[in-house]
Amino acid sequence: SNAQYNFKDYIRVIPDFPQPGIRFKDITTLLKDGGAYRAAIEEIRAAVEKLNIDVIAGPEARGFVVGAPLATALGVGFAPIRKSGKLPGETITASYDLEYGKDQLAMHKDAIEPGQRVLIADDLLATGGTIATSINLVRQLGGEIVGAAFLIELGYLNGREKLEGIDVFSLMTYN
Ligand code: IMP
Repeated sequence: SNAQYNFKDYIRVIPDFPQPGIRFKDITTLLKDGGAYRAAIEEIRAAVEKLNIDVIAGPEARGFVVGAPLATALGVGFAPIRKSGKLPGETITASYDLEYGKDQLAMHKDAIEPGQRVLIADDLLATGGTIATSINLVRQLGGEIVGAAFLIELGYLNGREKLEGIDVFSLMTYN
């Protein structure tokens, strides 16, 4: 349909989650509305179509919720990025810093062919740490990162600075 959505109306902001002072952007209130969810994916699809994407890669779990429907809408494949230890085949890994300690993300070695044009998708761009690690993995496999797409960007955390030279699309921005 041609219904116009004000997507922010579908985001629930939860104060002090998961820690005091954080205003958590909850996307489940968007996902449970079939029309709004479909319209959100369609708007992202229209914005990234020009990038000539071969495959979409997204980090678990909420990157799947954006990346997989976007992939089917574009008619391209989807490559999951997971916490290490979850993927059954041969993998590559990349580490990233958390507030306390380190974590690792992984991809199957055959998830992406060298030279493929890859779009990274996730629910939310905050500091950009998750996306920078995802980009590292795709580049290890020889993929060319042509874009990054998000439902939400937290502008005040400047994650975009970690994505220089990459076409970044965010459906909603909070400043
Ligand atoms: P970054 O690595 O700092 O950019 O954090 C992005 C990741 O943290 C995303 O994968 C999000 O799922 C998650 N995240 C951070 N803040 C929020 C929030 O307010 N709502 C939902 N997810 C969040």
